[in-house]
Amino acid sequence: MLKIYNTLSRKKEVFRPRKAKKVNIFVCGPTVYDFPHLGHARTYISFDAFVKYLRQKGFSVFYLQNITDIDDKIIARAKEKKTTPKKLAKLFEKEYMKDMKSLKVDSVTKYARATDHIKEIQSQIKRLLSKGYGYKIEDGIYYDISKFKDYGKLSGRTMIMAEDAVSRIDETKGKRNKGDFCLWKFSKPEEPKWKSHFGEGRPGWHIEDTAITEKYFGPQYDIHGGAKDLIFPHHEAEIAQIEAISGKKPMVKYWFHTGFLTVKGEKMSKSLGNFITVRDFLKENSPRFLRFLVIKNHYRSPIDYNEKLISQTKKEIERIDEFVTKLKTQSSKRKAKTQNLKLIKTLVLKTQKEFEEMMDNDFNTPKALASLFELINRGNSLLDQNLIAQNDAKDILEFLRKIDGFLNFIFWKKPKEKIPENILKLVEKREKCRKQKNWKAADEVREAIKKLGWWVEDTKEGPKIKMVSVGHCLTRLSNGCI
Ligand SMILES: [Zn+2]
Repeated sequence: MLKIYNTLSRKKEVFRPRKAKKVNIFVCGPTVYDFPHLGHARTYISFDAFVKYLRQKGFSVFYLQNITDIDDKIIARAKEKKTTPKKLAKLFEKEYMKDMKSLKVDSVTKYARATDHIKEIQSQIKRLLSKGYGYKIEDGIYYDISKFKDYGKLSGRTMIMAEDAVSRIDETKGKRNKGDFCLWKFSKPEEPKWKSHFGEGRPGWHIEDTAITEKYFGPQYDIHGGAKDLIFPHHEAEIAQIEAISGKKPMVKYWFHTGFLTVKGEKMSKSLGNFITVRDFLKENSPRFLRFLVIKNHYRSPIDYNEKLISQTKKEIERIDEFVTKLKTQSSKRKAKTQNLKLIKTLVLKTQKEFEEMMDNDFNTPKALASLFELINRGNSLLDQNLIAQNDAKDILEFLRKIDGFLNFIFWKKPKEKIPENILKLVEKREKCRKQKNWKAADEVREAIKKLGWWVEDTKEGPKIKMVSVGHCLTRLSNGCI
C-alpha cells in the first residue's frame, strides 16, 4: 500500500487517486531566464523517478508541467542581455529541455507555456473579479486574501517571510491587504502585453498554474508538487484562486514538496558564488551520477552538496558498477556451481520485497537503496566464491533492470569515446618508468595523465585506465604493459 506525506495534512496518507488508477499530477516548472541549477535538478529528478515508479505500479499518470515564460525576471534579464523577453525565454526553455534530456527526466506528458494560456488566465481573472475576490487598482488586478477564509491552510501562515520565492510585481501601493498578490499587471511601455477587457497587461505568477491545471485537469486533481520554497505564497495563492472560482475543495488531494539543496551548508546563490548550474556540474560529472546523488537522499530531506558527499557517492556508484559487471560476466558463463540456486532466488525476492516496501513508504529511497547494497554485499561474496550460477546472475540483473526503470542510474549507455592515443602513450611511458623503478618519474606521468582527465590504477592484470569524470566508467584492462 503506497503512502505519501501530504503537506496539507502534515502526515503520511494512503495514496488513493480520485479515479481508480488514474493520476493527474502537476509540478511547477521552471522560469526560463537562466540555466537550470542543481536545485532544479533535484526537484525534477525526484518527480521523474516518482512518476516512473507510479507508472511501474500500474497507475496511468498524466504528468503536467508549466513553463513560466513571462515574468519579471525574464523581462529584467532580457533588458540586461539586450534581447526580447520572448527570445530569452525561448532560448532558456531549450536549454532546460536539453538538461532534462541528459538527466533522463523524460516522464512529463505535457509541458504548458504560460503565454500559450493567456485566454485561460484571463477567464480565471474575470471569474475572480465577478465573485468579488479580485479588485482593480492603478497598476493591476489583485487578489483580496481577506475574502478567502482558508488562506494559509497549506503553509500555516498568511504573511511573507524572507526566504519565500516571491514575484516583485506583487509589491505595490494601494493594496487592500499586505499579502494580496497580483493576478494581472498593467503593462509599462516596452513590456510584453496582451489585450484584455480589464486592461492591457501580463499575468501574475500564480494564476498561470491554476489556468493551466484547470484546462487539463479541471478544478480538482490528485497531486501538486514542487520545491519546498514554493509552498508560500505560490501554492497557497493557487488554492485561493481555484477554490474561490470553483467553490470545490480540496484543489488537490496530495501536496508533495521536495527539500532544499544547499552547497557546503549554505543556500545556493549567485552572490555567494556557490551557484552550480546543471551544465557546469555535467562538465565534470556524469548525468547518472547526479541522478544517483539526488535519489539516494530522501526527497523531503535537505541535501548538502559537499566534497564528502561527492566522494562517498562516487564510491557507491562504483560498487554498483563493479557488481553489474561481475554479474554480466557470470551470466554469460556456462559453468558455475548451481547448488545455491534457491538461496539466490530467496535473496532476490527478499530484496525486491524490502525495496518495494520502502518505496511505498513515502518513497524512502535511502532505505530502498540500503536493501540494494545489502544484495550487492551478499552477491559479491557469493560471486567471489563462484556460487552464483548463470541463471542466478540473470535473475539479479533482471531485478536491477526493473528498478532501474525509475532509478535510471544503474544501466547507462557508456560514452562512446575511446581512450585517446596520447593517453595510451603516456601510460606506456609510465609503465617503462615503473619497470626501471623510477617511481618519481612514474608519479609525474600519472599526474600529467590526470590533468588530461584520466586516471591510471595499477592492478594485477596491468594498468587500468579510467576517465576521471565520476561514473563514466570507461575502463580498459591492458594485457600487461600497453
Ligand atoms: Zn508554479
